[in-house]
Amino acid sequence: MVPSNTIRHRRLVLVVEDQEINQGILEFILEDTYDIIFASNGVEALKQIEAHLQRLSIILLDLIMPVMDGFEVLERVRNSDDMRHIPIIVLTSEKEAELRALQLGAADFITKPFDAHEVILARVARIIELSEGRRLIQATEFDSITGLLTRGFFFEYAGQMRHFDPKRKMDALVLDIDRFRSINEMHGWESGNRTLALMGDAIRSLLDKTEGIGSRIEADQFYVYLPQQKNYLKILDTLQDQIDALSNRISIRVRMGVCPWMPKTDLHTMFERAKTACGMARGSYKSNLMIYNDAIHERELYYQRLLNDLWHAVEDHQFKVYYQPKYNVQVSPPELSSAEALVRWVHPELGMISPGDFIPLFERSGLIHVVDRYVWNEVAQQIARWRDKLGVEFPVSVNLSRIEILDPSLESELNELVSANHLAPKQFKLEVTESAYTDDADQLIESINKLRADGFEIEMDDFGSGYSSLNMISSLPIDVLKMDMKFIRDIKADRKAFHMVEVVLDIARYLGVPVVAEGVETDEQLELLQGAGCELVQGYYFSRPLPASEFEKLIIKDIEQHKNPSK
Ligand code: C2E
Ligand code: CA
Ligand code: CA
Repeated sequence: MVPSNTIRHRRLVLVVEDQEINQGILEFILEDTYDIIFASNGVEALKQIEAHLQRLSIILLDLIMPVMDGFEVLERVRNSDDMRHIPIIVLTSEKEAELRALQLGAADFITKPFDAHEVILARVARIIELSEGRRLIQATEFDSITGLLTRGFFFEYAGQMRHFDPKRKMDALVLDIDRFRSINEMHGWESGNRTLALMGDAIRSLLDKTEGIGSRIEADQFYVYLPQQKNYLKILDTLQDQIDALSNRISIRVRMGVCPWMPKTDLHTMFERAKTACGMARGSYKSNLMIYNDAIHERELYYQRLLNDLWHAVEDHQFKVYYQPKYNVQVSPPELSSAEALVRWVHPELGMISPGDFIPLFERSGLIHVVDRYVWNEVAQQIARWRDKLGVEFPVSVNLSRIEILDPSLESELNELVSANHLAPKQFKLEVTESAYTDDADQLIESINKLRADGFEIEMDDFGSGYSSLNMISSLPIDVLKMDMKFIRDIKADRKAFHMVEVVLDIARYLGVPVVAEGVETDEQLELLQGAGCELVQGYYFSRPLPASEFEKLIIKDIEQHKNPSK
């Protein structure tokens, strides 16, 4: 709640008093703190109130006056929807009248002859504060766009419902709008707000039918707490139909996650679970509904376990870096050119966990840097070990998650890392996934330019999987394009896929950078790529990712092959 003394403007006070001497005294007491207007009878008072309805903070009202007395003013103000919010302090010298005035709705009284000035000032200030506090609460109980409860009130009321009727089965629902951000971007804020209002209407009619309560928790996310229902698919359909009927040109798809009644689970956890379910309701075009179940619960527990185990895993060196070779296939025999570092988690109880299972989790939880710093360190030390042992300056690329690129300390950390291991920055290559470039392009490009200026080389990973426009590509700071695996997968069966490969190679030629084709598994794929002029190849065809000790054999073999090219 905003304390009223932080609101800067001066409050307006109406003094209704027929005795000039009393007007003068009140003016003297109040004028330093307040703006003051006067009326000398009830009729004048009502005119003043009407004229200053928006600004008026309080009325000081004498009871005994000519023309229209204070009792009648009190009654009229209290019976008017427009004026009722203005508090009234009654000025009186008669004990009996005080009681009657309070019964009529006066907020307080001041006795005549007037008390000490401080007492009067304090009373006026207190009543204004009380009434403004009340109005602030009223203003924030409901969300102005949807008319639904605000977050705090929603949980307050839901908690009360649970407390006073603990046996009643209540479900938690989370609803949101698919790709709401793009509605905002494509059609503007106005349309975004209209969409939210439509959702609000649809949810309110659901609440009317079910005796539930609802809130817009944030942006396009809605919470509903309602007595258990039988058919949520039908409820979602009804909601969707209602929105379709009114949303004319904009397509709005609602998603819903449900957490069924769990008497032992607290409210916030129930809603977290409904939210998880809602996140999973994405994509399947048949139904945008997901109900939290045991399988989801197991998965959540698994993720929680991974999050809990992370720190110990780092200390215990459970993360293992594997290396997958990249070969230059435009020479014969193909020549080992570099490697990509790929992390695995060898968990003492859960076994080998692939990065696809934990990297996205740690990215979402903001912990990815813990894993990546570990990997980068290992890799830098490994490159140094190969240099010392085999006499080769072997380059390795590491993967960067998109949030890391915007980390202001990244540049200095990487520089320290390479210099601590006496490496040239270009031996420590950085893979950045294409979709990172489409997120916050300007800032990203700035960070990448700094890294390149320091000598680090940037490989754009998964190229072709995102939505970079041609226009944007031409201005991208990169040193290598890594073609998305999907192009290679279909290269044989599908002429279009091969055509896409040629397009990517053309783009790379235009940018003047080499291409790495990833996921190459067969002779045919390799030959097609060689024929099309692709320089670098990575994939099971040559080797799976290997532990450093195994990978070392590939380096040694390559060194020997180039000493004796006939072999
Ligand atoms: P990515 O960067 O696109 O890595 C390539 C993935 O393709 C690797 O999966 C690799 O093992 C796999 N792969 C390589 N050759 C073939 C092939 O011929 N056929 C098929 N089907 N797959 C092949 P992996 O190791 O499971 O890694 C998955 C993803 O996890 C990586 O995709 C990368 O985005 C991420 N990742 C891996 N290690 C790290 C890391 O240390 N840090 C970060 N931030 N992300 C990592
Ligand atoms: Ca990669
Ligand atoms: Ca890739």
